[in-house]
Amino acid sequence: MEDDKNLSEEKKDEITGESGKEEQTTNKKDTDFEKYCQMCRRPESVVGKMIQLPNDFCVCNDCMQKTLDSMNSKNFPYMELLTLDPSMFRMGGDFMKMPKVKKKAKPAEKEEKEQAPVLDLKNLKAPHKIKAELDEYVIGQDYAKKVISVAVYNHYKRVADKSNTIELEKSNMLMLGPTGSGKTYLVKTLARLLNVPLAITDATTLTEAGYIGDDVESVLSKLLAAADNDVERAEHGIIFIDEIDKIAKKRNTNSRDVSGESVQQGLLKLLEGSEVEVPVGATNKNAMVPMTTINTKDILFICGGAFPELEKVIKKRLNKTAMIGFGSELKDKYDEDKKLLSKVTVEDLREYGMIPEFLGRLPVVFALQGLEKEQLIQVLKEPKNAILKQYEHLLSLDEVKLVFDEDALDAIAERALEKDTGARALRAILEEIMLDIMYEIPKDDTIGKVTITGDYVRGCGGPVIEMRGSEK
Ligand code: ADP
Repeated sequence: MEDDKNLSEEKKDEITGESGKEEQTTNKKDTDFEKYCQMCRRPESVVGKMIQLPNDFCVCNDCMQKTLDSMNSKNFPYMELLTLDPSMFRMGGDFMKMPKVKKKAKPAEKEEKEQAPVLDLKNLKAPHKIKAELDEYVIGQDYAKKVISVAVYNHYKRVADKSNTIELEKSNMLMLGPTGSGKTYLVKTLARLLNVPLAITDATTLTEAGYIGDDVESVLSKLLAAADNDVERAEHGIIFIDEIDKIAKKRNTNSRDVSGESVQQGLLKLLEGSEVEVPVGATNKNAMVPMTTINTKDILFICGGAFPELEKVIKKRLNKTAMIGFGSELKDKYDEDKKLLSKVTVEDLREYGMIPEFLGRLPVVFALQGLEKEQLIQVLKEPKNAILKQYEHLLSLDEVKLVFDEDALDAIAERALEKDTGARALRAILEEIMLDIMYEIPKDDTIGKVTITGDYVRGCGGPVIEMRGSEK
């Protein structure tokens, strides 16, 4: 029996031959240093063959599977950040021959999006055409409309000019004028007529970077949003910075001026033209949002402000010059001058607190006049989208004719003048007058015509109501 056993063992050796010996030696090596999973710490003898990753990192099949499962689940937030393809972890996968991961395809760009007008020198609207279109909406302000039409025409001519022979300067504007004289309205109308994106911002909300508030670059984010995130379109847009007088340098203070001078400084590089990193879809850079670069060199900046105390500065200067010499004039000559603002000079603005570098970047300076009674009446009834036309249309939908008699228009304009907020007061006054009428009329469908009278506006009478069929 024993002989038989030996024989069979010998036979076994013969059969395995050299390969058996080899196996023995390798086994010996392995037992010297057994691999173990560096995630679950189990040895290879327990979990089976390990997956070998670079830097002698071994992982067992179970742990690898768990890792891949969690990466494929939606809860794994960093999947998109990984450029590694999970297939490389597969058993036997060759790390070095790992297939390259294609970058996520960009979402298809909107094709139907309204195309920005290509800036072509021949297609540019001439100043007189721009002004004629503005005339349809904006009452009065002839000089301002003329200046703005020319400046805008020159600006876009400069943008469209590719000849590079003469460097044309930017025609950024500074617009002065009392509240409600139509500064914002003028710019809004202009942007609509030219079909360019417009961003309106308030200088009082801007602060130097690092302070609470919007930093100056946030205006570019607004413009980008107005251009549907189309950078090229945004780069031909208009930015209107209102209340610019509020960032005048404070006179006679020693304290650090956060909101004034430093904001003017901050705006300088935007006004002149620079490349600015702008977050897409947000107004600050803190959020995890993608960034894009906008070049401001072709953006038209229009700054506007009421500059309330500026008239005093102008008057002081004018009086000073007028009082010298024999031909000296009366000191109160300019007290009643309604067009004083239009006599403004850069020196006056410097005196007011605007820094010279800032003024240097706004070469076109002009003023709007406060609207007078006649003009307020025109504002009520003449523009294409005049307030009265809007009310008339609203009531016509109820098949009621609305009429304002001349005296009523007079009374409304007088009340607006008292408020001293220009045309801005008109809407508020009309809302007040019309409330009862808009409330009562739909109740009674026999009413055919309503006439608003001066007495009704002044609060000492009622509107004239006529029944259907009896109106003239
Ligand atoms: P501000 O000069 O203070 O910016 P706005 O432009 O905001 O004044 O004017 C307020 C409103 O008054 C406008 O929405 C517009 O309806 C009306 N308005 C002001 N000025 C004019 C004008 N010259 N012609 C027509 N409407 C005007």
